[in-house]
Amino acid sequence: MVYLVEHFYSIQGEGKYVGTPSVFFRFGGCNMKCEGFGCKEKAENGVEVLGCDTVYAVNKEHFSQTWVPISKASELLAVLELYELPNAVDIVLTGGEPLIYASDLIFVEFLEALVKRGHQITFETNASLNIDFEKYGVYKECYFALSVKLSNSGEPLAKRVRGDIIYNIASNAKDAFFKFSIDAESITLGLEEELSEILLHSPKTKVYCMPVGGTQEEVEKNSEPLIEFCKAKGYNFSDRLHIRIWDANKGV
Ligand code: SF4
Repeated sequence: MVYLVEHFYSIQGEGKYVGTPSVFFRFGGCNMKCEGFGCKEKAENGVEVLGCDTVYAVNKEHFSQTWVPISKASELLAVLELYELPNAVDIVLTGGEPLIYASDLIFVEFLEALVKRGHQITFETNASLNIDFEKYGVYKECYFALSVKLSNSGEPLAKRVRGDIIYNIASNAKDAFFKFSIDAESITLGLEEELSEILLHSPKTKVYCMPVGGTQEEVEKNSEPLIEFCKAKGYNFSDRLHIRIWDANKGV
């Protein structure tokens, strides 16, 4: 069973393909909690749950009653009919962690149908769950934004940095790039070393750094120090366009 949390048609707001019209599918569930990010969200049952900015797509216990169970690939494909798409626009698969469904046959069939229709598929993943590229060849046609979690996530190192998986994805996918969320404080707190260790696992893969923030104010505060960091290290700065335009709104 695959769980779909939400879908929307917008432009990609961050990373390598910023500005590209894309249909977003947000899937429910994740193999991490990232309580270190300190975001809190109230569930319908009144419980305040701690996690990342998409905790409502992570925490099954408190939020799954709002997730839609999907039992056929055609139910996911039907979502595309809800929008007046001008052509085979990009598809972004996010979460939670979409790769928890990597070997689910409903999910694989969905990907195969998208590729057949000419869509470019980008995964937004924490790059800690492996993919069998030989068994499921469709993943070789996909693009991956590798958002490897840093120590500020609160997750243990052995869980969040899986060099073998980063290498496997980066060397088998159609394209892959690193994407990190960075705040001004982390830059002065040894972030450089942490990033270098992650990048060692795929040194030729491009790096995009975007300012931490779920609101315009936070994004603005972190942008300038991050631009200076990117200039010094030769990394790409990525804005968070959707937050600058729509602020803290969801589903845009
Ligand atoms: S890996 Fe991503 S989706 Fe999962 S808890 Fe961490 S930040 Fe949230």
